[in-house]
Amino acid sequence: MVNEFKGFSGIQMIDEGAAEAASVVKQTAFPAIAPVAEPLLQPTDPSTVEPGDGGGAVNKVVIVGSGPAGLTAAIYAARANLEPLVIAGAVPGGQLMLTSDVENYPGFPDGIQGPELMDLFRQQAARFGTRFVDKDIERVDFSQRPFRLWAGGVGYGAEAVIIATGASAIWLGLDSETRLRGRGVSACATCDGFFFRDKHVAVVGGGDSALEEATFLTKFASRVTMIHRRDEFRGSKIMRDRALKDPKVDVRWNSEVAEVLGDDVVSGLALRDTQTGEIHEEPMDGLFIAIGHTPNTDVFRDWLEVDPKGYLVVHDQTGTKVEGVFVAGDVHDHRYRQAITAAGDGCRAAIDAERWLESVGLTEAATSTAW
Ligand SMILES: Cc1cc2nc3c(=O)[nH]c(=O)nc-3n(C[C@H](O)[C@H](O)[C@H](O)COP(=O)(O)OP(=O)(O)OC[C@H]3O[C@@H](n4cnc5c(N)ncnc54)[C@H](O)[C@@H]3O)c2cc1C
Repeated sequence: MVNEFKGFSGIQMIDEGAAEAASVVKQTAFPAIAPVAEPLLQPTDPSTVEPGDGGGAVNKVVIVGSGPAGLTAAIYAARANLEPLVIAGAVPGGQLMLTSDVENYPGFPDGIQGPELMDLFRQQAARFGTRFVDKDIERVDFSQRPFRLWAGGVGYGAEAVIIATGASAIWLGLDSETRLRGRGVSACATCDGFFFRDKHVAVVGGGDSALEEATFLTKFASRVTMIHRRDEFRGSKIMRDRALKDPKVDVRWNSEVAEVLGDDVVSGLALRDTQTGEIHEEPMDGLFIAIGHTPNTDVFRDWLEVDPKGYLVVHDQTGTKVEGVFVAGDVHDHRYRQAITAAGDGCRAAIDAERWLESVGLTEAATSTAW
């Protein structure tokens, strides 16, 4: 489960391939998008604008995020000649970059490494002319069209925006946990439970998600030990009852993980008693962290609705309260949280964006073969 990924391959990075990216723009069959009345986009430092990277210009579609949702949206938008610009994030590729074996993504009967899968997504998007900027968006202005987004001090204009910034799993923050991620440490039981058949695993957390993950893991594991800092769970009664009545589930109350043990794979946990501070070690084959996710929505909150947990609220399938701004993937979906559902969402958002651009006269109708 060693992560051998060395970076994206065969992909035209915008900073390295500006000339070619510009030629992609020229080849478009569509008329240029409506000129902006005044130069709306003033990069804070004009010298940082890379020619051809979409900075300082108005793009038909800007996609924010380069996980399965963003890159699928890019594939669909690029094939519809929308010349998408993907602002991929400072750490591109999304959550699957943090895992090793992905065995539930259709089309890969032998499984595939998460980073390799994301590399293939990106190559496929690049093949149809998608341009990439590997930076984080730090500010947006959705008050009028063209919308404006800033990354690394450069302004980008967009007639339509697809937000696919995902939700980051919250980790404990231990060095040993980071070192053993994908080697027994996971944040997704649906994704990785299968690897722990007849093993003893631990689940950290005390809310509904942790209880659900623990119950799910009993399908595979021989024993599931829940580790909770307090002496009762926060989760709902029905979820508590379901987990606690399961003979495979036991609980270490008033306990937290002090260290994850193991050289190459998880072999145990050092647990600290939250009341006495005492530490003891227990053998364990796996550790699932279920202490929540942080939706990456901070930069959009002034403009778009978020639910009480901070996830974007979607209207009419993939839309938002701002016409022309669409949403895809885990940034709004905290129910399924899978690569395939995020990818499906990216497809829907791209189709909706294309139809909307067409409805407001900014593109021609996509041919049926575009999809
Ligand atoms: C350990 C682990 C293992 C998993 N294993 C599997 C599995 O085996 N199978 C499966 O189907 N699913 C798995 N998942 C779940 C899966 O990874 C997610 O459901 C999926 O990645 C969500 O896709 P997304 O595109 O919505 O978001 P993400 O993949 O989270 O991508 C979000 C993107 O947005 C970018 N971004 C965030 N903020 C900004 C910003 N301000 N500006 C620009 N870009 C930004 C990020 O850099 C990233 O590129 C796993 C998750 C984890 C944590």
